[in-house]
Amino acid sequence: MSEANETDTVVSVQETRCCIVGGGPSGAVLALLLARAGVAVTLLESHADFDRDFRGDTVHPSTLELLAQIGLSERLHAIPHGKIRHMMLKTRERTYTIADLSRLSTPFPYVLTCPQVKLLELLTEEAKRYPNFRLVMQANVQRLVETDGAIRGVRYRDQANQWHEVRAQLTVAADGRFSKIRHLAGFEPVKTSPPMDVVWLRLPKKPTDASDNAEIYVGGGRFAVILDRGDQWQLGYAILKGGFAALKAAGIEALRQGIAEQVPWLADRVDNIHDWKDVTVLNVESSRVPVWHKPGLLLIGDAAHVMSPVGGVGINVAIQDSIATANLLTEPLLRGTVTDADLASVQKLREPGVKAVQKLQSTLQDRIARPGLTGNEFNLPWFMRLVLATPILRNIPAKMMAFGPHRVRYKEAKTVAAAPR
Ligand SMILES: Cc1cc2nc3c(=O)[nH]c(=O)nc-3n(C[C@H](O)[C@H](O)[C@H](O)COP(=O)(O)OP(=O)(O)OC[C@H]3O[C@@H](n4cnc5c(N)ncnc54)[C@H](O)[C@@H]3O)c2cc1C
Repeated sequence: MSEANETDTVVSVQETRCCIVGGGPSGAVLALLLARAGVAVTLLESHADFDRDFRGDTVHPSTLELLAQIGLSERLHAIPHGKIRHMMLKTRERTYTIADLSRLSTPFPYVLTCPQVKLLELLTEEAKRYPNFRLVMQANVQRLVETDGAIRGVRYRDQANQWHEVRAQLTVAADGRFSKIRHLAGFEPVKTSPPMDVVWLRLPKKPTDASDNAEIYVGGGRFAVILDRGDQWQLGYAILKGGFAALKAAGIEALRQGIAEQVPWLADRVDNIHDWKDVTVLNVESSRVPVWHKPGLLLIGDAAHVMSPVGGVGINVAIQDSIATANLLTEPLLRGTVTDADLASVQKLREPGVKAVQKLQSTLQDRIARPGLTGNEFNLPWFMRLVLATPILRNIPAKMMAFGPHRVRYKEAKTVAAAPR
């Protein structure tokens, strides 16, 4: 540890087998899977609750299958939700069905949409049934504990600014796109520059609105995506990279008008955008760290790779990392010997799929989003038309959305006794 760390006054020291930093989708899923297999897990989350807006509210078929496998499907489906079965792309001239999930061979041929907070509460409530699970909210992790060249835990500050230490054989950084752990460990992500940013907002849904679709509207120099969230529409309004200051300078009325022109059936409700507090800007990034691990430490989810929002797969990719990690590391963690080779096996399994998705996203950004934002005329690229017109290729976009290029299935581990629900 650094000299500065030696001067911290630590008020508590806890021991666990696996310390997970970050209670987003990847951290919460991994914590639950390890806890039910009997691994002692501590999950540290910096916020006081899981309620943050526009974090991605999609639960993909691969995650729906996992939740069914571990007995949580009914409880998830009891939460008010929407279902996206088709992804449509609408140009001024015609409409394309670019992904038809309803044709997939899965018990869950749709993307379920519900507030991410509900999913995270469900996962952590379930994990709390296991005596070997500990959740600490308002735990702001600020330091790594390093012994003999290996990471052996973390230090966090609580809400009273007091230091606590968690010692663990394995620390998992699941702390998202701005990962503190990644920075502390000296990992530098390699970034690409997507051509756009996205302004997210919500608009009311009417009982007469069509649903079950995600719709992309492209043309006229604009690009917007609409997702059905059950009781509301979530709208992503793409702008050229760095264009938010200009958008803001043009005024909120210009944003309302832009949306109404791009998606005419929303014109009757754009007045619900009252001011800039109603919108959230996503600085679109795509990046990947070259190495996801060092002795005692593994990076997963956005901490290891930030995905572009194209295709809305960030949560899916992050959760697939967690499933792969649980499959590969449960046994070593139970034995108490997690080697660097074990950690490398997670990256080896997951990295090719992550790279493939990022490559595809980059192509779609360049061939659909960029021309959509910069030109009046928009034509679907030839390779997309070919895929959609060829029966054996037609399901590929839906499969990529649902499962990613490399489908990871959870290998059910022996579970330990849990408290009743
Ligand atoms: C505006 C927006 C919209 C998005 N829409 C979609 C979508 O529709 N579909 C989709 O699939 N993906 C979407 N994404 C991407 C998706 O949210 C991420 O890919 C996904 O959440 C990654 O999960 P994660 O668990 O790795 O990280 P995160 O979800 O970012 O979770 C990280 C967690 O770590 C906590 N944390 C951070 N630092 C610390 C610390 N020092 N100590 C303790 N805790 C810490 C954070 O509070 C957070 O809870 C969107 C992202 C954004 C920003």
